Amino acid sequence: MISWDEFYEDPAVPDVSAASVERASTNRQAEFRKADTAGAMALVGGSDGSMQLSRAVSEKAAGSYADAIAAAKTMTAMDIASSADRDLAEPPAGRSDRTVTEAAAELVNQQIMQRIQNELKDLDTSAVEHEIGEWTERVTVDDKRMINCRADLNQLVPFKYDWAWQKYLDGCANHWMPQEINMNADIALWKNPNGLTADERMIVKRNLGFFSTADSLVANNLVLALYRLITNPECRQYILRQAFEEAIHTQAYQYCIESLGMDEGEIFNMYHEVPSVAKKASWGLKYTKELNDPNFTTGTQETDKALLKNLIAFYCCLEGIFFYCGFSQILSMGRRNKMTGTSEQFQYILRDESMHLNFGIDVINQIKIENPHLWDDAMKREATQMILQATQLEIEYARDTMPRGVLGMNAVMMEEYLQFIANRRLVQIGLLEQFKGVKNPFPWMSEIMDLRKEKNFFETRVIEYQTGGALSWE
Ligand code: FE
Repeated sequence: MISWDEFYEDPAVPDVSAASVERASTNRQAEFRKADTAGAMALVGGSDGSMQLSRAVSEKAAGSYADAIAAAKTMTAMDIASSADRDLAEPPAGRSDRTVTEAAAELVNQQIMQRIQNELKDLDTSAVEHEIGEWTERVTVDDKRMINCRADLNQLVPFKYDWAWQKYLDGCANHWMPQEINMNADIALWKNPNGLTADERMIVKRNLGFFSTADSLVANNLVLALYRLITNPECRQYILRQAFEEAIHTQAYQYCIESLGMDEGEIFNMYHEVPSVAKKASWGLKYTKELNDPNFTTGTQETDKALLKNLIAFYCCLEGIFFYCGFSQILSMGRRNKMTGTSEQFQYILRDESMHLNFGIDVINQIKIENPHLWDDAMKREATQMILQATQLEIEYARDTMPRGVLGMNAVMMEEYLQFIANRRLVQIGLLEQFKGVKNPFPWMSEIMDLRKEKNFFETRVIEYQTGGALSWE
């Protein structure tokens, strides 16, 4: 059996820095177990806290057992921590280490528990009243507003915006994870020097480079800027779901990059090293900067418009335009039986993204209905300009990623496709089409987005994937 002297002579013990206590605790645990000093082990064996407790109690127990009890009764958690710095003494004669330290420690624990209970008994609940403000009544549908709502945001029901809640349920029903998708064929094709052309390789790399950053920018905007400014619980519920989906998308890109053994530094730094990628990222960031400021609040015409512009930038432009050249390129690759795993990842992402886009459009239109003064001619002009700018940036990205025709598409066709997409975005938020007579040169993209029609596109699995909890059983 190890004596107290042996134990406390350990040079690590008097130094109670976290590292040394941990070291001593680890070393001692092994020795105490071996020596079967059950009492000391019970106190020393667990954590730094119990280590300190053991030593502090032993010090207080230097005089007699009764002194130890009296000392323990007056100790606070702070006492325990500070007294652990001092030297320790022998336990009283005639008492085993275990008896003294365990009994005293028990009393200290009782005292700490009593303090915790007392503090909770008198807990100040005014913080909840402050959170709710003057609205202590139950929330009604009429109290709810998309922005600048002053009703209690912790009351999810009654629902006012059923579309937001339904999108939350739909998003959850379509849950997927990147590692469910088989990447073996992609790995073999990517490693084969003759598997893909140089142009095809560039398309894969550029898109992984852009998307891995873009989904991260979207997630940051949601969590750091938008969430607190959208003052409706059912919309916030969807934003939380969307934020998780953005994380899954980022994971999907990383999963592709890792599976294919790409240079991670090259891919993840593309957003500031490749001009056509950098421009798109910078354009998006411009609209999140002001709202990211923790002191930014809505409530004035100017700040409410800033929020509206952020929504248009992120939902209509970033997720609604900037993703579409890359989506069609990667999905076209999959249609040609190339990089089918990566394509399937992008197909699931596109499905999520079309719901993000539709949610954003519903939010924008609802804010317009509730705040018609914001949607004046100046705002309409600016919104149109934003969509045109985003379209132009995406056309530049198309030219950069497709210097020649590839995968049955080229930059000219992509330009028309992006103009077609831009017209849709404009109309979706009540603005006029800007590109007359353009048609969709890639009708198969619409088919992919129409989830209910399109099944088993790459003959890998049913596209209309639903999690078990959302399936209906007959
Ligand atoms: Fe998204």
